[in-house]
Amino acid sequence: MSSEAVHVALMPSAGMGHLIPCLRLASLLVQYHCKVTLITTLPTVSLAEEQLISRFHSTFPQLNQIHLQLQKPSSPSHNSTTDPFFLRYEAIRASSNLLSPLLSSLSPPLSAFVTDVFLISLLLPITHGLGLPNYILFTSSAAMFSFFSHFPTLVPSLPELDDVKIPGISPIPISSIPHMLLLPNTIFRKIVMEDSPKVTKFQGVFVNTFEALESQSLGALNVGKVVKGMPPIYAIGPFKPCEFEQEGQWEAPLRWLDDKPVGSVVYVCFGSRTAMGRVQIREVGEGLVRSGCRFLWVVKDKVVDREEEVELDEVLGLELEERMREKGLVVKQWVDQSVILGHKAVGGFVSHCGWNSVIEAAWNGVPIMAWPQHGDQKINAGVVEMSGWGMWNKDWDWAGEGVVKGDEIGEAIKEMMKNESLKIKASQLKEAGRKATSVGGDCEVALKKLIQEWKKNV
Ligand code: UDP
Ligand code: UDP
Repeated sequence: MSSEAVHVALMPSAGMGHLIPCLRLASLLVQYHCKVTLITTLPTVSLAEEQLISRFHSTFPQLNQIHLQLQKPSSPSHNSTTDPFFLRYEAIRASSNLLSPLLSSLSPPLSAFVTDVFLISLLLPITHGLGLPNYILFTSSAAMFSFFSHFPTLVPSLPELDDVKIPGISPIPISSIPHMLLLPNTIFRKIVMEDSPKVTKFQGVFVNTFEALESQSLGALNVGKVVKGMPPIYAIGPFKPCEFEQEGQWEAPLRWLDDKPVGSVVYVCFGSRTAMGRVQIREVGEGLVRSGCRFLWVVKDKVVDREEEVELDEVLGLELEERMREKGLVVKQWVDQSVILGHKAVGGFVSHCGWNSVIEAAWNGVPIMAWPQHGDQKINAGVVEMSGWGMWNKDWDWAGEGVVKGDEIGEAIKEMMKNESLKIKASQLKEAGRKATSVGGDCEVALKKLIQEWKKNV
């Protein structure tokens, strides 16, 4: 199918968890012969984002990149967070007036726009003004999208609820709801309250998920049970990791894995922006030693990578570091997670359940020991647990609320690594995920249909 004239712009918000799925979708659109424009705000919060954008553009030099110049928010509202990624959302939202002329000057004119979920209110009036079909890229689970779109209806009864009941969806315990949504004046709650009622004004929502993983939420959303007038929800995942994401200097952990027995290594990583407290980090180390398993552990000491300055031995302490040497490799750097999860030596994943991590594990058929830390991660952990390829100890607190001891962590890891039923379910999901993205699968069917529709606007 030729679709040369279809031109799609994509705008991610801050953080690797938003940028990676946006760029994976962009390269998918390139495969379908769309012209793509990426709208970025530089400098990015993290160095990892800056480097990934640069590798993306070296790989696809034919693609457009436009920069949105950031303006300072006129009033520093809702200072409930110092989180640099949330502050960046605010700054991007305050710079919207600059975007309209940038978009209308693009050539050929745009056929469609894909906006990150955190930028809904910023982009909707602009794309409406330009008469552009607008789609949301939701960067978390369909379960979380159900919660996000139903949230304003829930707010009045929130203080009295034990479980959140959304039509067509299994009840979500209140303890799984992101903290920042339970508190009245946080920036995150303000964004959700403002953006959620607008989802019905979009032409569709892309979610990096697939039927075999989230059939319940996808079904409820698509028949309008969650919110009336919901546009189509396109399950176009699992997004395939792309070659441009890889970087030669990250080879060392992969080489370390090469001579380890199949399925013997537990991989431990809490995503791109979760810095664990020092005490908890050391308990994780104890837990890994006690588990008796081989392990590959990515330690993160700061929320933003540019601020990492302390060496690993200072974070772990020399004595613990020494005891870990025999069975494991510990690194304090960016790693190529999606390639690691695809390595035959990896047999389990201790994950915070950021949605990209969950999907990368599903893509590779790796069982998960869920240890959610913040935000949407408990809702995502619920998806993993419900679909039978992961374990989740619900007694473990959110990050910063308490310290989980090494012996408990060690036991949980041991249990996951020897659980055969998790392995079977994970490999079934892998197969279903590959099918969803192969020729004639859900992803292809949805994109071909959309591209045909967009062509009518050209
Ligand atoms: N990631 C990676 N190497 C790292 C840390 C993270 O490749 O050292 C990737 C990971 O594979 C995933 C993304 O960064 O694609 C993190 O997104 P996720 O939604 O899992 O969690 P977040 O970082 O947003 O909390
Ligand atoms: N955070 C994070 N990853 C996320 C969401 C949040 O690292 O995906 C961090 C971020 O620093 C944020 C903090 O967690 O400011 C608090 O988020 P949470 O939802 O747990 O709310 P809180 O603990 O402030 O009530």
